[in-house]
Amino acid sequence: MSQEKAPIPLGSNFIRGIIDRDLAENKYATKKWAGSPGDAAHQNAGQVDVAKIRTRFPPEPNGYLHIGHAKSIFLNFGLARDYGGICHLRFDDTNPEKESQEYVDSISEMVSWLGFGWDNNGQDGKKESNLYFASDYFDFMYRAAEGLIENGHAYVDEQTADEMRINRGTLTEAGKDSPYRNRSVADNLAKFREMRDGKHPDGSMVLRAKIDMASGNINMRDPAIYRIRRAHHHNTGDKWCIYPMYTFAHPIEDALETVTHSICTLEFEDQRPFYDWLMEHLAEAGLIAQPVPKQYEFARLNLTYVVLSKRKLIQLVEDKHVSSWDDPRLPTLAGARRRGYTPEGFKLFTDRIGVSKADSWIEYSILEDCMREVLNQEAERRIAVLDPIKLVIDNYPENASEDCFAPNHPLKPELGKRTVQLSKTLWIEREDFMEEPAKGYFRLFPGNMVRLRYGYVVKCTSCEKDPQGNVTTVHCEYLPDTKSGTPGSDSVKVKGNIHWVSANHAHEAEIRMYDRLFKDPHPGSGDKDFLEDINPNSVTTIKAQLEASLKDAKPAESFQFERHGYFVADRKESLAGKPVFNRTVTLKDAWQK
Ligand code: ATP
Ligand code: MG
Repeated sequence: MSQEKAPIPLGSNFIRGIIDRDLAENKYATKKWAGSPGDAAHQNAGQVDVAKIRTRFPPEPNGYLHIGHAKSIFLNFGLARDYGGICHLRFDDTNPEKESQEYVDSISEMVSWLGFGWDNNGQDGKKESNLYFASDYFDFMYRAAEGLIENGHAYVDEQTADEMRINRGTLTEAGKDSPYRNRSVADNLAKFREMRDGKHPDGSMVLRAKIDMASGNINMRDPAIYRIRRAHHHNTGDKWCIYPMYTFAHPIEDALETVTHSICTLEFEDQRPFYDWLMEHLAEAGLIAQPVPKQYEFARLNLTYVVLSKRKLIQLVEDKHVSSWDDPRLPTLAGARRRGYTPEGFKLFTDRIGVSKADSWIEYSILEDCMREVLNQEAERRIAVLDPIKLVIDNYPENASEDCFAPNHPLKPELGKRTVQLSKTLWIEREDFMEEPAKGYFRLFPGNMVRLRYGYVVKCTSCEKDPQGNVTTVHCEYLPDTKSGTPGSDSVKVKGNIHWVSANHAHEAEIRMYDRLFKDPHPGSGDKDFLEDINPNSVTTIKAQLEASLKDAKPAESFQFERHGYFVADRKESLAGKPVFNRTVTLKDAWQK
């Protein structure tokens, strides 16, 4: 049978190569189900679909998603989308102490924000939800563990944690068999049931797979697969006092969901033999279907100037180095969204960096460039004066004002122009005036002429200063025949072109000038604590003078403030008629040496 949809040849990578091969071999055309009806394992049996790939994004709900997760989301959901397959959102919630509903909610929200969903058309056109919780499979996982015991592939070990560690051996030395390794199936079953029934204290024993204590791969030296832990679970409450280990749970989750390609980061490469071992033995026992899922590893995203470790992110939030999980300086997706980063920007970024098997560092500026590129297309232009001083046009009539016309988007004339008001007193940027001009300075200085963008050519005459010598007001005269858009506009040639807002019409607003959270490209490198590398100037809050129309900016609306960069109305703290803006990214990279 042929595929439903031809793959879209987007940025090819080795995983696409594997999928192309599997589909060409018609690998998923038949799925043989070996379990018995009524099994938990059967819940997806009806969904097995010929020639469709299934991937999954399996976050543990123990923190907020970060930019690294975006790479995995675009990869897994993107492959499913391109190949007409299905990607599951699965919460890998097997570790109750650190997990919570708050994290489940925020993760779901961010996956949707990036443009992906988990409600799909299943076979026969029926709707199916592909949202899963590992904890929903605890019953089956327990059964699978008993199945391994029954076939002599698992045993209950009562060695202490220390004994187990010592007997595991080292990279150069084989491990030693546990004295409990050869207890009978009946004994093992009885002990494992006692573990489940709460007859033994936490940590007193574990269930281990029985593989090979002399294996060259330490992960194959009888790994623990179940432990006793009296912990309340956000989903199953107090039903269980034993929980499966991640390495045991994860392959089972994949198998039960008939995942075809289980894609994870490189640190799991050494776990692949156990993944395959488990699949083989569970399939043998008739507990899971053939063909079993296969694990493939890719290089995780390492990005300069950020930390992408949940532990470090939690520390930044809990120790109040940032204001919250969605602080716009954090590399969480929630923070990036508040910062004004866009899903399209992340898509461009993940396409650009690709997927490989070799670990590398990606420059943060590549991510910023992607955001710039997308915002350059999407964001309308507005005028904002961020460091205001006054410019008085001495020969302009008092109390008068007039309309000037500014294009909303230079690349999209169809978006039209808006009206901005010009009057006698304007706000301009402090840096657009120099009493003693530096060489090559073409903006305002006494005697020089510049164009007020979308307005007139003016000639600078003088300035006023405060007692400390700071310029407070600049004076100029305008040339009435030079208005932009009139035939006289070309009559005088000037080199400088500055932006402005009319003081009477301006809207004053708070702007948070965000910069990178860390000043070192590799926070915590060497012997430093990563906290020592926090950039003390990662945010400066200013009062800016904005063109009047910005008063009505909606939360989460992005703009290019001409000559400055991209800014977004904060989605959380903007009020109607009183937006607060976050700087998303400057127009040019200021970090480049
Ligand atoms: P931990 O396992 O320490 O809690 P984690 O970052 O691995 O943290 P998970 O919730 O397990 O978090 O991640 C979900 C998925 O996202 C995994 O499949 C993981 O491989 C992937 N992922 C996590 N970090 C990155 C990264 N930096 N680059 C690419 N993929 C990542
Ligand atoms: Mg993980």
